[in-house]
Amino acid sequence: MNPKILILGPPGAGKGTQSERLADDFGVEHVTTGDALRANKEMDISDMDTEYDTPGEYMDRGDLVPDVVVDAMVGEALSDVEGFVLDGYPRNGDQAEALREMTDLDVVLVLDVPEEELVDRLTGRRVCEDCGTNYHVEFNRPEEEGVCDECGGDLYQREDDDEESVRNRLSVYHDNTEPVLELYADHDGYVEIDGDQTPDEVWEDVRAAVEAEA
Ligand code: ADP
Ligand code: ADP
Ligand code: ZN
Repeated sequence: MNPKILILGPPGAGKGTQSERLADDFGVEHVTTGDALRANKEMDISDMDTEYDTPGEYMDRGDLVPDVVVDAMVGEALSDVEGFVLDGYPRNGDQAEALREMTDLDVVLVLDVPEEELVDRLTGRRVCEDCGTNYHVEFNRPEEEGVCDECGGDLYQREDDDEESVRNRLSVYHDNTEPVLELYADHDGYVEIDGDQTPDEVWEDVRAAVEAEA
């Protein structure tokens, strides 16, 4: 059925974790600006009239990378896929407007998680350096410490998952991204999901919502 899914929610809400499952189960492409930017952290953006010369300088501080850079990445990524789950974009009103011009959406999921829980999730997050699978030192441990269950790759802690950058990302979310939720509240296929459950329980709600709305 190739659904076009947008997944929204604060940093640490579980967007990446649930998007991986959506990609596997519904056969859609996982389009994530965070991963795309991490793969291009050192890209030279000095000709785009930005404050810093690379995406990485924004990311390590937990600030948003300028819209010109991110809009172009998403436009490119969506141009050659049918179904997708879009994760990490839009993060402000201008990006939401850019997205509206790029594609329509069948389902808009919002993961709700209380703020105290987000800090614990982000500071304990570990990521596979080879395949990008997410783990957590307490809530979602790999079978063998430091090793990816999926591919055997080494797990690492993201540079921006330290407490200082996490607090800044949550405040950037609050100021820039939270207002975007209101823009989608009346959208077809809009569903709020309780993200403060186990990953399997959240997944049951996510899957049911996509099956009902797509
Ligand atoms: P996001 O993409 O929204 O930033 P992630 O999917 O990377 O969030 O999840 C953030 C961290 O929280 C990861 O370490 C992940 O393993 C863990 N996590 C994801 N979902 C849950 C959940 N339902 N309960 C507890 N921890 C979770
Ligand atoms: P999280 O898992 O905390 O939600 P992401 O992996 O989505 O984080 O994003 C990591 C960083 O990449 C952000 O803090 C920001 O610097 C940059 N980034 C990702 N998506 C966007 C976007 N849509 N607009 C601007 N910056 C972005
Ligand atoms: Zn892996």
